[in-house]
Amino acid sequence: MERFGPTEALILSHSAAKRTRHAQARKALALAASLMLGVALLVRFPPEHYGFYPRCPIFEATGLLCPGCGGTRALSALLRGHFLEAVRWNALTVGMVPLALLYAGAMARRVWRGDPGWVRLPAGVWVGLGIIAGIFGVMRNLGGG
Ligand SMILES: [Zn+2]
Repeated sequence: MERFGPTEALILSHSAAKRTRHAQARKALALAASLMLGVALLVRFPPEHYGFYPRCPIFEATGLLCPGCGGTRALSALLRGHFLEAVRWNALTVGMVPLALLYAGAMARRVWRGDPGWVRLPAGVWVGLGIIAGIFGVMRNLGGG
């Protein structure tokens, strides 16, 4: 194994950090491009008019609406500026959009700074979201969602 002096080690370390940052930026760009493609797809081909979108396996198997049922249609309506229609399709999805945008902003800031990995949310946030989704799933099948 080669031994490096402090200057060579610093240069190699800087070079590795730069490669990591570039790799992370490429992943972020690929994700952003995928999201833009998804947005274009939802705007150009609304799910309520085109049948190529995947169907919910829970709804197909049980006839019950899961917390995510109608989420794709809600996003499509929201992207086309039809807020009330979006809420009618899936209010939970509409409510999650601002949180998702905040998370995306935090991730973008992380990538910009060159910090590796994902922004981690506290376990309580996930538990809270799970409880809200569960209540929403029950309510909408009882006619309240
Ligand atoms: Zn579903």
